[in-house]
Amino acid sequence: MCGPVRGICSRREVKHSVTSKILLFLVICLLFIAAYYAYANYAAGLYYLAGRYDRMMNPYGVDPEAPVPTDADVDLHRSMFVVDLHADTLKWERDLLERSAFGHADVPRLREGNVSLQGFTIVTKSPLRMPWRDSVSARSPDTNTLLSLMQGRPMFSLRDRAFHQIERFKEAVRRSREGGGTELRLIRDVEDLGQLVEDRRAGRDVIGGILGIEGGHWIGGTAADHESVRADIRELFDAGVRMFAPTHRFDNALSGSSEGYARYGLTAHGRTALEEAERLGITVDLAHISNDGLRDAGEQLDNPFIVSHTGVRANCEEPCRPDRNLSDEDIHVVLENGGVIGVGYWPQAVGPSVWRIADAMAHIMRLAEERGVDDPGRHVALGSDYDGSVTPLIEVSHLDVLTATMRQRPDPFTDSQIRDIGGRNACRIFATNLPGGNAETSEQLCTRLNVSSPHK
Ligand SMILES: [Zn+2]
Repeated sequence: MCGPVRGICSRREVKHSVTSKILLFLVICLLFIAAYYAYANYAAGLYYLAGRYDRMMNPYGVDPEAPVPTDADVDLHRSMFVVDLHADTLKWERDLLERSAFGHADVPRLREGNVSLQGFTIVTKSPLRMPWRDSVSARSPDTNTLLSLMQGRPMFSLRDRAFHQIERFKEAVRRSREGGGTELRLIRDVEDLGQLVEDRRAGRDVIGGILGIEGGHWIGGTAADHESVRADIRELFDAGVRMFAPTHRFDNALSGSSEGYARYGLTAHGRTALEEAERLGITVDLAHISNDGLRDAGEQLDNPFIVSHTGVRANCEEPCRPDRNLSDEDIHVVLENGGVIGVGYWPQAVGPSVWRIADAMAHIMRLAEERGVDDPGRHVALGSDYDGSVTPLIEVSHLDVLTATMRQRPDPFTDSQIRDIGGRNACRIFATNLPGGNAETSEQLCTRLNVSSPHK
């Protein structure tokens, strides 16, 4: 449009108008590119911060008094079917298949530690424990939301956060098959577990992963009914989840938590969730649950359950935190059910020394013995809580130090007990509970189970 009369422009005016349009277009392009780079760097900056946060939250601790494994300790460890019930590795952005310079666990390090089967548990919400409160409130600022923002993961839906982690795990499983290195394999039923046992016996380079949920916070509540609770559990089952802990560190619609405000027992929806989990072949995990919740679940459940990562309250001294740990009464509930307790390696669970890990195990075994349990070592397992924002005293790639601790303590465990604790007990629980499993299969598959480590 030029001149007073519409549509009539001089040649100079036409040229001027085209130049303006080109200039305007170039300015818009420049603004767009600048905005893009600002955003990209902003996202890269957030991603970098997520890595720094991971590095800060998941260091290893050092115990100068830790034993040096003898040849016999190492030989025993290398022939064990090692199972660890709990690691939060999927919460972080590290590639599961690559050795990382920070954090606790990844496939190369699990391989060095001769781990056959690793529980990968999914955390979706971690509210801060305010220093002026003795409980964790669901309304406190959630560090997982901030982490999700930094990682570019789903921010607003806890369910979506869980499924994002499940997909990340499956993607690592797919890549491991194509990569030609150590195979990472999702364990969904007793047939998968049997195949894993066979492959590890033959010294094949494969590590099983069993998926778990730590806190079903989006399940149940006022907007839900029992059918929708069952549907939510089935959705997790269909996605491959085989361990389910109703609570984490705060009370939710399924149960109170041991660190929650009200610490109530199982709710009606909580009962339905556990009933459905048990029916489908998902192992119930009662880590973090309130005392009342543990008792309610103990009465309800028929299949053996786990407490995947904990310490014991007895002889728990600073920095060990008794409120987080199992009392003798709690331990009796687990023993009554025939369940298994995964003992952790971090100071707040067991105390400041690796020897305390074995002491906590020995305490559970003593209580089992007092109850007249034939084989008291059958109720203890490993529950590292790797990558769970803790400072474990045992590195996964040097897990033989833990075997050495059990063998070298003043009152040593027998090699058979160490094999049970190191993995056979957890194997038995999964072989009983997984689809297609039962107590008989579990004895055939897991008792007298020895393997040959792929890492020489
Ligand atoms: Zn936990």
